[in-house]
Amino acid sequence: MMGINRVKIDSNIIDYAIHKRRDFHKFPEIGFKEFRTSNIIKNELLDMGFEVQSGIAETGVIGIWPGEKNKPVIMLRFDMDALPIAEENEIEYKSTIKGLMHACGHDAHISIGLGLAKVISTHTKNNGATIKFVFQPAEEGLGGAERMVAEGVLNNPKPDYCLGVHVWNEKPINWVGIKSGPFMAGAITFKLEIIGKGGHGAIPNEAKDPIVASAIIIQALQSIVSRNISPLESGVVSVCSIHGGSAFNVIPQNVEIFGTARYFKPEIQKIILARIESIVNSIASSFNCDAKLEINEITPAVINNNDVIEFILNNTAKKYPEMEFETQYQSMGSEDYSFYLNEIPGCFIFMGAGLVSGEKRYGHHHPRFNIDERVIGNSISFLYEALTDLTEN
Ligand SMILES: [Zn+2]
Ligand SMILES: [Zn+2]
Repeated sequence: MMGINRVKIDSNIIDYAIHKRRDFHKFPEIGFKEFRTSNIIKNELLDMGFEVQSGIAETGVIGIWPGEKNKPVIMLRFDMDALPIAEENEIEYKSTIKGLMHACGHDAHISIGLGLAKVISTHTKNNGATIKFVFQPAEEGLGGAERMVAEGVLNNPKPDYCLGVHVWNEKPINWVGIKSGPFMAGAITFKLEIIGKGGHGAIPNEAKDPIVASAIIIQALQSIVSRNISPLESGVVSVCSIHGGSAFNVIPQNVEIFGTARYFKPEIQKIILARIESIVNSIASSFNCDAKLEINEITPAVINNNDVIEFILNNTAKKYPEMEFETQYQSMGSEDYSFYLNEIPGCFIFMGAGLVSGEKRYGHHHPRFNIDERVIGNSISFLYEALTDLTEN
């Protein structure tokens, strides 16, 4: 079934994008070291006639297709980094780099970006919009977006809107996750050191036991979501690592605890942080221990602009009768695309890419992760229609 009034994407462009995706898949690169990837992107964009800047935040590339003065500037962002995972797929384009793999689909994102750039450069007019392609390094928890913003990616020209997609293999092809407001969670990590006084396991009264204090702290941290956050809101506090002691009869000097918290709203983040601090300090001191707490903010929540989502649903989505648009989908995963959305009205959407369902399906960050490559053509088409619709508006 063909949608009304949508531009048919040339099959040569889709083939080109898939070919590129397989090449990037073969040669994955870790965050801030995407040198080969970045070089290919730069050369491809130059060949297509884009104005190109490179070396932003180490390996970031910007490609600008200038439009008319009174028309909007639309930014599109694509992340480029792979993960420290050894690929277990048996495919002809399997990773050739030991211990590295595109296991989140960022290889597809780059190729969607390049395919879309080809569409833009062949249609030259694009309703007069200025299109700014941003290829970003180091999305996987390394702070790539924050550095791109700090290095001025949102200036000269300043975008009026930003659009971004993530291929999503939790859902099948032709599914689209598109939601107003909170979409993906904000994330912090916490590192906690409980410092006591070591001693003999049989003479605990002479020691200050950080193990007992830690056990109670970990239990109490689980009360934050259940007792301090409204049952109508969402939050997660997870302790994921604990280390202390090395012998059955020695009370150790200290215990180290690592964990993460996720939430959608700044006010929930505030409650979680305040409660972690108060629980840790008060319990540690009641057990005569000291506590060192280190909190790192990884990403704010991804909050989609309501007007942009509404507009895309009422206009662009109507051209895709064969697609299913789920408007209440959320993920507790996090994404540094939030750094752009904090400055520019825009949206981040998930494009279904699941190959199979059930036991055989391997999720994002799994050594057997893979995607239904039809998502590449779907995404190129949808982004092209969205940006031309927004320009016409
Ligand atoms: Zn990922
Ligand atoms: Zn990702």
